[in-house]
Amino acid sequence: MSEIVVSLPDGSELSVAEDATVADVAYEIGPGLGRDTVAGVVDGELVDKADPVHDGAEVVIVTDQSDEYLRVLRHSAAHVFAQALQRLYPEAKLAIGPPTDEGFYYDVANVDLDADDLDAIEAEMQEILEDDLPIKREHRPREQALETYDDNEYKQEILENEAAGEDPVSFYVQGDFEDLCQGPHVESTGDIGAVKLLNISSAYWRGDEDNETLTRVYGTAFESESDLEEYLSLREEAKERDHRKLGQELDLFSIPDVTGPGLPLYHPNGKKILDELSAYARDLNVDAGYDPVETPHLFRTELWKKSGHYDNYVDDMFLLDVNDEEYGLKPMNCPGHATIFDQKSWSYRELPVRYFEDGKVYRKEQRGELSGLSRVWSFTIDDGHLFCRPEQIEQEVNQVMDAIYEVLDTFGLDAHVALATRPEKSVGGDEIWEQAESQLRSVLENQNIDYDLEPGDGAFYGPKIDFAFEDALGRKWDGPTVQLDFNMPERFELTYTGEDNEDHRPVMIHRALYGSYERFFMVLIEHFDGKFPLWLAPEQVRILPISDDQLGYAHRVKNQLGDFRVDVEDRSWTLGRKIREAQEDRVPYMIIVGGDEEEAGTISVRDRKERERGDVDVETFRTHLESEYEEKRIEPDFIEE
Ligand SMILES: [Zn+2]
Ligand SMILES: [Zn+2]
Repeated sequence: MSEIVVSLPDGSELSVAEDATVADVAYEIGPGLGRDTVAGVVDGELVDKADPVHDGAEVVIVTDQSDEYLRVLRHSAAHVFAQALQRLYPEAKLAIGPPTDEGFYYDVANVDLDADDLDAIEAEMQEILEDDLPIKREHRPREQALETYDDNEYKQEILENEAAGEDPVSFYVQGDFEDLCQGPHVESTGDIGAVKLLNISSAYWRGDEDNETLTRVYGTAFESESDLEEYLSLREEAKERDHRKLGQELDLFSIPDVTGPGLPLYHPNGKKILDELSAYARDLNVDAGYDPVETPHLFRTELWKKSGHYDNYVDDMFLLDVNDEEYGLKPMNCPGHATIFDQKSWSYRELPVRYFEDGKVYRKEQRGELSGLSRVWSFTIDDGHLFCRPEQIEQEVNQVMDAIYEVLDTFGLDAHVALATRPEKSVGGDEIWEQAESQLRSVLENQNIDYDLEPGDGAFYGPKIDFAFEDALGRKWDGPTVQLDFNMPERFELTYTGEDNEDHRPVMIHRALYGSYERFFMVLIEHFDGKFPLWLAPEQVRILPISDDQLGYAHRVKNQLGDFRVDVEDRSWTLGRKIREAQEDRVPYMIIVGGDEEEAGTISVRDRKERERGDVDVETFRTHLESEYEEKRIEPDFIEE
């Protein structure tokens, strides 16, 4: 039999028989690995270990030690859920049940479930784990599969779409349960160490608003009870810190129904924080030689056709007719900035040209995907665009990276960095891609940045460096980005005059230090648990008079603190209650004034970490506030001075 060649993660190649499976590849590498194999990843796709490989395939073997293992186990847990559900509710119709980053869900119909029903289903799941039922794959004639699901329109639809033409059809079976499925799965239900059903919600079939609403049950699974316990306690903490909850408690923002989905309103407290963030980004940008620009919220679709957004992005755009002409709200700021660049001629000596704008954009995300500030219809990007000569890429990206690291440091955020390189389909010649990728790599290497290489994951128009923030709970969120673009300068026919007096194309760089303000705000709310650093806090100091007699003195102290955001607590509560309230509002500093303080002309300072310092001179405190604010220190530190 003839042989095929597959490549392995370490870059080596292996010849295997033409009809080899993932498991055969594993045995070829070593019998121990063969025995431990649970599944495989072939060309980036998670597959069953009995699935075939093909010539030229990139093969990764998945064992119970692999990162992908949890995904396999959770998919099996989704089946266990479905099995338990069918035992308790035989009339329930199963739709679809994939694994997710945090667990799994299963969408079901024809059953009336609420949160109180989950305990009983979970108990049944527990029995299935204890019974340690082997999970087996079976291939059945298509006719038979269609018959099996003759009263389940969802599985019918999957057979007609995803599984169109598949014959025989792949099923997975465990005990009294079977499911139309491509796998992969663990070998037996006993391999799932711990399961937990988390909550219940609704979802449109296939995420499409025009379809009917299904019941979605979320759960998670781990290899061990202790892993599950750890996850559940982090989840509890995350719930406490949820930006939607804190956003309401601290009166930062709202997303009311009446204004439309995903269209956030920032309240005075939230806007104070946004303004500080914006001023900080502006300072960094101006220091780095950027010029602020401003563009409107909508443009003629002619511009979106020129930029390519109309062809590739129109489904996500808000379009409107004005006097029989079509306009579109901007989904991105770049075409506006490219047009500004195009309004005059440039010499090579004037490059790089750097523009920035806090630009509001509008993208029509599926309504089911919207969530708090993390997925919205309108958001603002701290958007910068650079136009430079190809040989300036490295110097410019270096500067952008410095600014990004300064931002991360200021907020105490960690980030994960990835370099995404040329995909199969791309615009621009070999030379420019090689030049650009090698400059990006040398920036990362010269700055000693630990990064993941993601070959082929770049945009079609250029390679990019992406940052993902890691918050206090270890969750990752899309953050800053630096993207090179060879396409837009081409589409807009941007030029500069070179030293040779000829026209040349500049390279465009898209970059954002925060990403979107909305996403970044969300990360900050949860990262700080609402305890913003002094420079961001909407209310920086609250003055608590011990009794109403000191209200006059309290206001005089407030005036002495000048421009800081200071409030006087004038509700006639006990001091204890005033302190609790300020603590709950997460105000960095409280000033307590009683008769003694008034007489001596001093104050007592208390911080939100419950530390106190008496007999303080107001001027001393004000000087401290100035330096804490200027240096953007994360925690109030007057008391420890
Ligand atoms: Zn499945
Ligand atoms: Zn852009």
